[in-house]
Amino acid sequence: MEFADAHCHLNLFENVNEAVGDAWKKGVGLIITAGGSGKDNAETLKMVEHEHVFGVVGIGPDFSAKDSHFVKEIEKQVKSNRKIVGIGEIGIDMKVADVNNLALQEEIFTKQVRIAKDLDMPIVIHSRHALEKTVDIIEREKIKRVMFHFFEGDEKQARELAKKGYLISIPPIKSGKRKRIIKEVDLKSIVVETDSPIVGKTPADVIRVCETIAELKGVSLEEVATITTENIRRLFYI
Ligand SMILES: [Zn+2]
Repeated sequence: MEFADAHCHLNLFENVNEAVGDAWKKGVGLIITAGGSGKDNAETLKMVEHEHVFGVVGIGPDFSAKDSHFVKEIEKQVKSNRKIVGIGEIGIDMKVADVNNLALQEEIFTKQVRIAKDLDMPIVIHSRHALEKTVDIIEREKIKRVMFHFFEGDEKQARELAKKGYLISIPPIKSGKRKRIIKEVDLKSIVVETDSPIVGKTPADVIRVCETIAELKGVSLEEVATITTENIRRLFYI
């Protein structure tokens, strides 16, 4: 049985070898580690030297003011390393709009969506209190390979996004809304993540998320592991 963590931040771990090794021992055979700032992106390039680890780089909304000049490096970083398989996390976050004004966030996000399109890369979305605006830009730019990291919407929004072919990522935090999403959205549109070490403790925590999904959907753990892993491989071409 192979599990896959669709989203974590390996560069923020004190002991990366331990985190990756522990996950591997427990069956997590694929980890996607995400950048988001100039510093995180540089560190992500190092993280993908680990076996079974792939990465995405991008300038997230919370760094759109401070790190906008790093956007021009992204194309080079993606092209220089075959284990960088997407652009992210990128998007819009209303919670940080005081320091990163909305117009600038939209500009930085749009620029990176266009880079992804040019390079035929998927994008990993970070959206907080801004789902409609984020989806508007995705649709306007006609980018197809999209994963919504730590999906914050409700089951109706999740169903609509799944219908468009986007992937909904389920984090280790349980909620009533998330239970309904898990029940109503087809496994083919679901991936699982830990967002560790920020939310989950280690990438191995993705197994707990799969167990919750298996229970709510009334399917085997193996089916959840297999399909969510396939979904990630299909999105990132790995
Ligand atoms: Zn994250």
